[in-house]
Amino acid sequence: MDFWSLAPLRWQDLIDILLLSFLFYRILLLIKGTRTIPMLMGMIILLVLYLVARFLQLDATGLLMDNLANSLVLVLVVLFQADIRNALAQFGLITLFRDNRAQQQDVAERVLAACRTMARRKIGALVVFEKEVGLRNFTDRGTPINGLVSESLLLSIFHPTSPLHDGAVILGRKGDLVAAKCILPVSMNQNLSTMLGTRHRAALGLTEETDAVVLIVSEERKEISLGFQGQLMRESEVDLKQMLFSLLSGKTTSIKTKNTPAEEDILLDDSLSIGRTEESSPNSAATS
Ligand code: ATP
Ligand code: MG
Repeated sequence: MDFWSLAPLRWQDLIDILLLSFLFYRILLLIKGTRTIPMLMGMIILLVLYLVARFLQLDATGLLMDNLANSLVLVLVVLFQADIRNALAQFGLITLFRDNRAQQQDVAERVLAACRTMARRKIGALVVFEKEVGLRNFTDRGTPINGLVSESLLLSIFHPTSPLHDGAVILGRKGDLVAAKCILPVSMNQNLSTMLGTRHRAALGLTEETDAVVLIVSEERKEISLGFQGQLMRESEVDLKQMLFSLLSGKTTSIKTKNTPAEEDILLDDSLSIGRTEESSPNSAATS
């Protein structure tokens, strides 16, 4: 067909192209550095297999692939449900936290003060800040508190003799302490440092699935880390207070990656970030 004989470009087509480009750009940004990429590669391999099977007329394989393709949308939604939820949440970035910046900072400061005290006293803790993605799945299975956050309340909850000290505390979007003793999903990332126990893996697991921000106090190392988007940042690497504020206010929406040395170097090097290995220093956080 002669290209130039195609219908002339209308202004609607231009908007169409711009809109789709923007959408694809946002989607690529969202999946960049997540486990979605390896999954997409798997899907592409399946597609190639399907085309080869059709080309070589391998009937049984072709039939199986045909049936799989029929339920592909469902399979995609199930496989990528966490990413889809995050993407939708990031598209609507007007958080309740933003309307409430002063109160939110006040809460974050109280939590940080409690974390510092706990780190000094070698008390482990896990504090989750809910953002766009609702965490009712987890709070419903914890112990409801529904109270105002204070340093003493957090110290009481995480004190080793407290019946509520196991698990995580979840703070709602308005900064209220919704529930304690919440069990979080443990990260299955096999590249994580063996130094990380279940507390840190639980923090990472939640941040891989949701947009929550998590503070972790290590009872073994007496240090505080911040978890976001499947990465952990230690207090020694980042201005924790500033990072927490900007993540909660929505000023920082993603942690940008930069080229890092070989994966093993990071995992063995105690001085570097200990989260998702392809990602890097939190100082390169992207602000928007
Ligand atoms: P630390 O540096 O403080 O020792 P860690 O990463 O080595 O932390 P563990 O020593 O295994 O982790 O910490 C165990 C504690 O982590 C448990 O007592 C519990 O409070 C918490 N924890 C473990 N798994 C979960 C989970 N799935 N959800 C929430 N909290 C969890
Ligand atoms: Mg431990």
